[in-house]
Parts: sequence; structure tokens; C-alpha cells
Amino acid sequence: MNYDVLIVGTGVGGLYTAINLNENIKVLMITKDSVRDCNSYLAQGGVTTILGEDDLESFISDTLKAGNYKNNVKAVSKVGKNSIKNIKNLSRLGVPFEKKDGKLKYTREGGHSKNRIVYCEDQTGKAIVEELIKVVKDKSNITIMENTTLTDLLIEYNTCYGASIINNNRLIKVNTKAVVLATGGIGGLFNSTTNFASMTGDGLALAIKHNIKLKDMEYLQLHPTVLYEKENKGRRLLLSESLRGEGGVLVNLNGEKFIDSLLPRDVVSAAVLKEIEKTPDKPYVYLDMTGFTKEYLTNRFPYIYEECLNRGLKMESDLLPVAPAHHYCMGGIEVDLYSRTNIEFLYAVGEVSCTGVHGSNRLASNSLLEALVFGENAAENINSKINEITINLDKVNSFSDSINMKPLINYVKGKADHRYDKLFNC
Ligand SMILES: Cc1cc2nc3c(=O)[nH]c(=O)nc-3n(C[C@H](O)[C@H](O)[C@H](O)COP(=O)(O)OP(=O)(O)OC[C@H]3O[C@@H](n4cnc5c(N)ncnc54)[C@H](O)[C@@H]3O)c2cc1C
Repeated sequence: MNYDVLIVGTGVGGLYTAINLNENIKVLMITKDSVRDCNSYLAQGGVTTILGEDDLESFISDTLKAGNYKNNVKAVSKVGKNSIKNIKNLSRLGVPFEKKDGKLKYTREGGHSKNRIVYCEDQTGKAIVEELIKVVKDKSNITIMENTTLTDLLIEYNTCYGASIINNNRLIKVNTKAVVLATGGIGGLFNSTTNFASMTGDGLALAIKHNIKLKDMEYLQLHPTVLYEKENKGRRLLLSESLRGEGGVLVNLNGEKFIDSLLPRDVVSAAVLKEIEKTPDKPYVYLDMTGFTKEYLTNRFPYIYEECLNRGLKMESDLLPVAPAHHYCMGGIEVDLYSRTNIEFLYAVGEVSCTGVHGSNRLASNSLLEALVFGENAAENINSKINEITINLDKVNSFSDSINMKPLINYVKGKADHRYDKLFNC
């Protein structure tokens, strides 16, 4: 196959890159499963935006503080500065962010010093992905292939010439001018995670194979409030941080507060793990939402309310057992401010990339924002260069029909904090 651009992944990173590419660029998008099976679809809390120019400094300060000052300040500043524009664009495309009297409503999550997160009930990711899919499907220059897996990148002399993919047991070589990796995170490597099981870090495994630079892989994020279910394996139900942002409180098994519930995730997760160590037969604490009425909870958090009810828990009267689980990978393929990797014509956006925005601990709701801003960036850079590039047919003919995951698994295990040992699935 010959395409100008191959985008691997149909989460917010991939979709937003695609819609920002010029319409004379022939694009192929592929996704392992169905187009909606991506972590972006699961996002609950919302998307961060600065409230105005005068909020930029405070946004940067909150992001750096949460990231333990390991962040790239230029990247943080870039996502902050470009936030309002991209939220406006999503609204224009039809994303139904909550509003009051025609103005956006803002919620709050841990680590933010003020309410600055826009949201769509408690299924913000679904609302965004649904609108972006509509836009992409309307564009005649973009083809989407579902159930199609990237198996290798065609790289020679530091240049990417395309990729190999598998569809219906057919191994296909795709010659391109540029490839965008938007393959998401690595939650599928863990037995207790909020991610889809298919998020196995395929882009990162190929990065290791081809000596593409990775950065900050030691920084893995646990989410402190994931519903504890003894029998459940694999993907767990996230209880969004916005529950605490709206007033929910963490208490231990004796009903006592043990931490300020709105501190950044790494601090809260560490405090929860410490509490849990005291009661190994009951490895959880409680999220207390009983201060709220059923009416409020079903309006503000309809999805989470329903999911809890399906598991026999009434949020207005039952304490919700929670424990930390793997949630997000701060590290990834190192990219510059234009989403470029160290390989010519290979870009990375979204969770697979490491822009440096998150430092060692991502501030809540900054991930979708990063995927939007750096997706737009990648597209702009490709738009400006594409006419200078020719497709090199048959330039690279050595590629594989499967990805060897072992080196990535060993690499991540080697980097991870020993507290994660129990969480690994492999
Ligand atoms: C439960 C949950 C709630 C969250 N809530 C929020 C929130 O409120 N706000 C926020 O900012 N962030 C949130 N996050 C994080 C955020 O959703 C993700 O980090 C972000 O959506 C990642 O987007 P992405 O486009 O990089 O990857 P994803 O949306 O995960 O998409 C990855 C894509 O890559 C494809 N893919 C992977 N490997 C291959 C392969 N080999 N071949 C072909 N395709 C492949 C997948 O099929 C998928 O289409 C949440 C995450 C989870 C799990």
C-alpha cells in the first residue's frame, strides 16, 4: 500500500492529528481493535484548560509541582498556551462540554489549585472521540482500517519509510512519507489497571527494537481511586478524581481521614498504599460519597453511578472500596516541541510519546490536552514538509510479522519502582 501518512492508533492523539492534516494528504489510520477501543474513550474527568492568559502561570506552577519539577517547562507552557484554542475547536466540532448560561463549567481534580477542567458528565473521552470519529469519517482523504495491527516500522539510516501491518492474517507493507505513532500506553502489561488490555506499549517495543529514543520510562502513574473488586482481573473501574474534586473524601477502614484527598496522584496513592499495608486481608480504603444525594450523583456522575450500582454499590449510602492500580505511563518516545522523534519522518503523539509535560507524575486531565496540542503540532509539521518528501517504494524490505514484547517488559520492569512488582501481569 502507498499512503502519504500512516497514523497508528485511533485515540484522541491519532484522531486529532488526522483531522489537522491538509485534505490533499492521503492518510491511513489503523487500530488494533475497533475504532472505539482506546483509553481515550474511557477518559472520565475532563480536559484541562487555562481560564485565560492570567491563569497560565498558575497552570504551569500546578503542573510542575505535580510532576515533581521533572517536567519540560517549554512543553508545559506550550500546552497551556494552546489549550483555549483547542477546547474552542472541540466545541466547534460539536463536543458537548458542560455549560451554564452559555459559558463553560469547570471542575477540579487533585493537584489543581482551582477549577479549570472542562468535562462532559463523567464520560468526557467518549464525547470527544465520538465527535472526532464523525469528522474523520467525513473526510475523503482518510481511510480507517480496524482490527489491523502494526507489526514493524520500516527504518533505514535514521529515516522512517513506512510500516508493516497485519489485517485478516495478511501481512501488508505500507510505504509512506511519514508515520505517526499514537499507540497509547502500557496498561495491558499489568494485572491491575484502568487501561484496555490491548494497550501493551507496542510503539515502545518497536522503539526499543529500532533504537528510537525513550525518555522517563521509570515514571509510572498509579491512580489512587480504582474500585477494588477481589475477583476482578484486568481492567478495573476508575472512580474519577473529579469525585474528590467535587467533595468526595478518602477514609480508612475505621472511617478516619488519612490524607488530603486533593493532593497530586503520586502522593495520594502512596498514602493509600501505606494504609493498605496495615490490613493485608482487606487491601483497600474507602471513597466516601455519602455526603451527596442520589439525584446529584446520577446527574453529575451517571456512568460511574450506574457502574457502581451494577456491582451492588449505592454511592449515596455505601462506602466505595478503592485501591491504587496502574493508570498512566509518563515516559515514552522522546519527542521535540513538534512531536518529532529522533527518526526522520517518524512522529509520536499522545501517551506513547514523552513531551516532558508530565514530569514524574501527570497532573489530572493534562493527558487529553497534551494529545490535542501535540497532535495538532505533528499535523502542522507534516503539512509544512510533505511536498518535499517522496515515497520511497521498496526502500526497506526487512520487517517482521509480530512484535517481540519481551525487551519492553524487561525494560519497564527494570525501571519500575519495586512497589509495582505485584501489579505486573507478565
Ligand atoms: C479510565 C481512564 C480514565 C482517564 N481519564 C482521563 C481524563 O479524564 N483526562 C485526561 O486527560 N486523561 C485521562 N486518561 C488518560 C487518557 O485517556 C489517555 O492517556 C489518552 O487518552 C491517550 O490517548 P492516545 O491517543 O495516546 O491513546 P489511546 O486513546 O489509548 O489510543 C491508542 C490507540 O492505539 C492503537 N494501537 C495500539 N497498539 C497498536 C498496534 N500495534 N497496531 C495498531 N493500533 C494500535 C489502539 O488500538 C488505540 O486505537 C484516562 C485514562 C483511563 C484509562
